[in-house]
Amino acid sequence: MNMPQPPHIALFPSAGMGHLMPFLRLAAMLAKQGSIVTLITGQPTVSIAESDHISSFLPDSPPVDPFFQQMHLINQSINLLPPLLSSSSPPFSAIFVDFLVVAKVAPVAKSLDLPIYVLATSSVSFVSVMAYLPVLASNPVEFNKTSAEIKIPGLPPMAMSSLPPIFLDSSHLFTSTIITNSQALSEAKGILMNTFEWFEASTLAALNKDRAIKSLPPILPIRPLQPYHVPHDDDRDQYKSRLENQPAESVVYISFGSRTAMSRDQIQELEKGLEKTGWRFFWVLKTSKVDKDDQEDAEHLLNEAFLEKTKNNGLVIKGWVEQQEILGHPAIGGFLSHCGWNSVMEAALQGVPMLAWPQHGDQRLNAQVVEDAGLGLWERNWDWGPNSIVKGEEIEKKIVELMTDEKLKGRAKMVREEARKAVGRGGSSDTVIREVIESLIIP
Ligand code: UDP
Ligand code: UDP
Repeated sequence: MNMPQPPHIALFPSAGMGHLMPFLRLAAMLAKQGSIVTLITGQPTVSIAESDHISSFLPDSPPVDPFFQQMHLINQSINLLPPLLSSSSPPFSAIFVDFLVVAKVAPVAKSLDLPIYVLATSSVSFVSVMAYLPVLASNPVEFNKTSAEIKIPGLPPMAMSSLPPIFLDSSHLFTSTIITNSQALSEAKGILMNTFEWFEASTLAALNKDRAIKSLPPILPIRPLQPYHVPHDDDRDQYKSRLENQPAESVVYISFGSRTAMSRDQIQELEKGLEKTGWRFFWVLKTSKVDKDDQEDAEHLLNEAFLEKTKNNGLVIKGWVEQQEILGHPAIGGFLSHCGWNSVMEAALQGVPMLAWPQHGDQRLNAQVVEDAGLGLWERNWDWGPNSIVKGEEIEKKIVELMTDEKLKGRAKMVREEARKAVGRGGSSDTVIREVIESLIIP
C-alpha cells in the first residue's frame, strides 16, 4: 500500500524582514505539521537581519561555506539565462563565464550559437589540477590520503599537500562542482586567464604546445588585470594619507584577501612578530569569513600594549581597502599575503615582493608559482589551521628577510617590467585578448 505523500509547498517571500518573518513562521508551522517546505529566496538579501534569519532557520543543516552555497544556487538558476540571452538587442556575440558554471551554460550557449569562453580566476597551475581532477578522482589507488604527490603527465609532480584536501572527497559540493565543470571545458573556445605568458611560461607551454591535458581548449593569458577607477569621496582616503609621509619601501602590507579569517591565537602571534621587526606595517585584519559578520573593532581584537607601542609605525584597518592602490604606493616594500590569485597578480603588476602564507583552496599552488617566478618567499611549514600556529619569532624573521632581501627586490621589479610589457600595446597578453575580440566581430 502506498503511503500518502505529504504536500510539498513552495514559499516565496519578497524583500525585507516584514515579508520574511511571516513566511518563516508559516514555513515552520507547516513543516511541524508534516509538509515538505521549500523556501525560495532571492540572494543576496538586502539586510543582515534577513540573511541571519534565513541561515538560522535551517539549524539542523550541516554548516556549509556560504560561498559554496551561493555557487550552488547560481548553478541552479541557469534556467533563467536562455530568455535573457536570446532576447538581447543588439544580440550577444559571446558569453564569458566562470569556471564553476561552464557545464550548465555550455548547452545554453550552444543552442543559441553563442561562442563560450571561460574566465578562470586562478593560476594556470591550479587550473591544470582542476582540469585533471576527473582523472585523478577516478583513480583512488593513486589519489588518496597517503599519496605524496600527484602527477599530471607533461607537468612537474605536485605535492599532495598543495592541493585542497577536499579534492579527495568527490562527494563534496565544491569538488563535485569542479569535476562536472572540468568535464565540460572542451565546450569552451578558450580559457581566459588573469596571468601573463612570462609568469607561467612552462606550465602554459605544457598545456598549449604539448597538449598535456588533451581535453583542454587553449589557455589564453590575457593580463594582469588592472584597476578601474571608482570615484568616491568617503573617509577611505584617510588611511592612504598615512602612507604619504613614509619612506620608500618601508611598509609591509598585510592582507589575506576577502574571505580568509585569522584566528585570535594567530593574530596574537602576528602582533608579536610585527612589534619585534620594527618595520612599519599596514595590516588589513579579518576575523570572519563573510564581511557582514566581521563587526568587532580592531581595538577590541588587538592587544592594548601592541596598539600603544606601534601607534606611530603601524596601522590596522578593519574593512575594505583599495588594495591595488595600496600596493602601487611607493611606501610599500613587501606584501604578506595568502596568495589569492588576484593578490598575486596585483603584486606582480606593482613589483612588490611577497611573503606567501597560503591557507586553502588554490593558495598553496599559487604560492609555488610565486616562488618559481621569483616574486616571493614561501615558508612551506607555515599554517594557521585549527591545529597549528606560526610563532611571532618566526614571523619576525621572515618579515625581516622579506624587507631586506635585495635580490628579491630586484627580481620583483623585473616581474613588474615583464607584467607591464605583457599588457602594453603589442605585448603578449594584449595580443591574445585582441585576437579573441577580433574573432567575435561579425564582418
Ligand atoms: N523585527 C524584529 N526585530 C527587530 C525589527 C523587526 O523581530 O529589531 C520583526 C518584527 O517583529 C516584524 C518584522 O521584523 O515581525 C518587521 O515587520 P513589520 O511589518 O513590522 O515592518 P517592515 O519591516 O515591513 O516595515
Ligand atoms: N581586496 C581589496 N580590499 C580588501 C580585500 C581584498 O581590494 O580589503 C581585493 C584584492 O585586491 C583582490 C581581491 O579583493 O583583488 C581578493 O582576491 P584574491 O584572489 O586575492 O583573494 P580572495 O579574497 O579570493 O581569497
